Amino acid sequence: MRRRVTPAGDIIVTLLTPQGKIKAIARGGVRGPQASRLNLFHHVGVQLYQTPQSDLATVQQSILEGALPKLSEPERHPYAHLLSELADTLFQEGEFSAQAFELYAGALRGVSHHHDPEWVTLVMSYKLLALAGFVPRTRHCSRCGADDPNSPDPLGGQLLCRMCSTQPPHPPERLEFLREVPRRSVRALMDAPLPRDQRPGVWRALERFVTVQIGAVQSWRSLVGAVTGEAVGA
Ligand SMILES: [Zn+2]
Repeated sequence: MRRRVTPAGDIIVTLLTPQGKIKAIARGGVRGPQASRLNLFHHVGVQLYQTPQSDLATVQQSILEGALPKLSEPERHPYAHLLSELADTLFQEGEFSAQAFELYAGALRGVSHHHDPEWVTLVMSYKLLALAGFVPRTRHCSRCGADDPNSPDPLGGQLLCRMCSTQPPHPPERLEFLREVPRRSVRALMDAPLPRDQRPGVWRALERFVTVQIGAVQSWRSLVGAVTGEAVGA
């Protein structure tokens, strides 16, 4: 999910595994065969060694099990990055979750293969959030509690009633997506993509919700700003 090279030529990687998130170091990795395997978005098998003195496990061996070369395409790469940062933020080290691994891996495969990587990213971002327990309130106005809110919540990314929101209501399709995304299957959501002109409103809601609920996803925020064509949070 994340890769950093130190001045000493070590590679520090954050891996999402079926046993949870793990941070590990490949010492001198930049100069060896591990450099090409321990790359972002790769599916790798790793053998780790944990010494009692060190916080970081050491990567002893790595095997490339699968790569998604299309993720380096400029129209796909930012989405893969965004999902990775979100997953890195949502799932904690040592937290067991085979489901998180499957969802994240599925999201990357979708961004790599699908003709509409933006839609994959919107759907899977909400699914990753839901798995981590972050589900926007959509049955009641997030400010006054009134039933069946239908308007944007520009601060919290949830839903406001007509009385509380200063913005026009969501178009019906977008409202339905925002209400149903946690419950519907990925397949059903992928089969019913929102028209592109309705997506900036979803990006804005997602960015607000993530920022308020989770925070500190700075580079993710600027990427969303690029997608919506606005300075987010300004
Ligand atoms: Zn209200």
